[in-house]
Amino acid sequence: MRRTFICGNWKMNGSLDETMNLIGGLVPRYQDSFVNVEIAVCPPFTSIALAHSLLSDRGVRIAVGAQNCHDQQKGAYTGEISTRMLVEAGCTYVIVGHSERRAIFSETNEFINKKILAALSNGLKPIVCVGETHEERELQRTFEVLLEQLRGCLRDVTAQQMHQVTIAYEPVWAIGTGKTATPEIAQDSHSFIRSEIEALYGKEVANNVCIQYGGSMNASNAEQLLHQPDIDGGLIGGAALDAESFMTIVRIASQAH
Ligand code: PEP
Repeated sequence: MRRTFICGNWKMNGSLDETMNLIGGLVPRYQDSFVNVEIAVCPPFTSIALAHSLLSDRGVRIAVGAQNCHDQQKGAYTGEISTRMLVEAGCTYVIVGHSERRAIFSETNEFINKKILAALSNGLKPIVCVGETHEERELQRTFEVLLEQLRGCLRDVTAQQMHQVTIAYEPVWAIGTGKTATPEIAQDSHSFIRSEIEALYGKEVANNVCIQYGGSMNASNAEQLLHQPDIDGGLIGGAALDAESFMTIVRIASQAH
């Protein structure tokens, strides 16, 4: 049985006050029947420790993740943060290769690969984002791009380590735009990603790897998306900033799989 995993990416939202309010909204909406869903929220760095302590004090099974990390552990990397520091602050997960980091901060598959290896060797579970731009889709290059991203990002990651890895398929044209991929388009890409994981690691790893969909997923479209055979969860941006919407997606996920 594959993991079902719903993760909120708060992006650069979540001051200490906002974090208290948002976590305060998530906690009472958590139900024991959500036990079959892995749930996480990824606040900005400065709110990670607060989110972690609020959630663990209340005994709610919602983990905390970060939105980025560096591959080195310490030294002259002004403005960066290491995977060990993130673990120390309470993180279980780290998002790597988000399209905003690729586009705005010029992150390459090679650099993302180093971050993934650093995360794995320090006990952090990477959520690896892949996805094509609108232009690449128009040029029918989607699968070629996904292939290049997967192969580049997962270089030297072992089959054993793949059990700690989540892949997030995030078509760039659907992120923050309100344009969700249709369930069929998303399923098509998810199935391609799983077949590529099979080519790299074999059937067992491919059957077990959790592939999230990300791109304007919300409480209204989650059901159709999460019913697709190869969609195992969601990486949620905008809708994760509203406790009611986020926990509705979690409830839908708990019933879908
Ligand atoms: C994201 O940033 O990972 C994301 C999926 O954003 P949104 O849900 O807002 O499209």
